[in-house]
Amino acid sequence: MPLNKTGQRFVCPGWLDRDCGQDWRKGQTFCPARVGLAVCRLGITAAHGIMAFLKPDPSTHVKIPVLTYHGVNVIRNNYADNDHLALASDLETIATSGFRVIPLSRVVDWRLGLTGDEDVSRAVAITFDDGAWFDFYDLDHPSCGLQRSMFNILKDFRARHSNEIHATSFVIASPEARSSLDKSCMIGENWWGDEWWREATASGLLDVECHSWDHVHPNLEKVAQQDQAKGDFGMVKTYMDCDVQFAKAGEYMGGVLGKRPTLFAYPYGQSSGYAVNEYLPNHQSEHGFRAAFTTEPKAVAKSDDIWRLPRFVFGQDWKSPQELEVILQRS
Ligand SMILES: [Zn+2]
Repeated sequence: MPLNKTGQRFVCPGWLDRDCGQDWRKGQTFCPARVGLAVCRLGITAAHGIMAFLKPDPSTHVKIPVLTYHGVNVIRNNYADNDHLALASDLETIATSGFRVIPLSRVVDWRLGLTGDEDVSRAVAITFDDGAWFDFYDLDHPSCGLQRSMFNILKDFRARHSNEIHATSFVIASPEARSSLDKSCMIGENWWGDEWWREATASGLLDVECHSWDHVHPNLEKVAQQDQAKGDFGMVKTYMDCDVQFAKAGEYMGGVLGKRPTLFAYPYGQSSGYAVNEYLPNHQSEHGFRAAFTTEPKAVAKSDDIWRLPRFVFGQDWKSPQELEVILQRS
């Protein structure tokens, strides 16, 4: 069983349902791991019909993959075991495949009909979950050495290419939860602060959005869930629970950022029917969010529920550049 340096069971917020068997105390890892043919009457009419079938309908064919990484996932210095190395490699794959990276907010704008297909065609969006310092600062990993931050990997890519580049960090809001998780999920170096949020947003490269108040993380002594149900965000299913996990989280982040977050990513990708069908659509003036993301592995389509937009997760939905190419080509 993976243990942290104090001998407690090690569980990363991004991978609570997984147990990779890594032993934290041996310094191996930060995270366990995870035709119809057209009907035509005669010759030329038939040809036109077939052509119409083959040509995608621009109002329906656009789909946008949203790719998710966890900056705390550093096991070894190779693609499959290191989300930082995977991101650096994947940005090149995206560019050489003829795709571009657009802000996640533009994907939501498109889904809401605020921008056209031309603004999102052949594009992907990139997100990071949990919001530890690995998203923004280069850090010296105890067993894998210096790790380039996700933010600096974006800057490196921009320096090499003139391509547009952008990502979104979904962060845990509660300072107490982050402080506790820094000790129980990492090595207690205070690597889970929020001092970087405003600088990241001001850079124009990295938006900071919301990943709940406390992730209902099982390593926390007390979570904002009335029955103390931990490790399952689907159990956040009352007004009182949602008020903390969504509205209070947004309020705290607004105080740090100078503006409230408008996008939400469900911890573990899980959501309750109450949150999706009642709280989020009916209490928007309280929580301020305009879209929420799961980890259902598919590209965002125009028909998707705005409160259940899908995302692909690295290590789970693709594990090699070739598998990423398949995701891109299917979109
Ligand atoms: Zn998470």
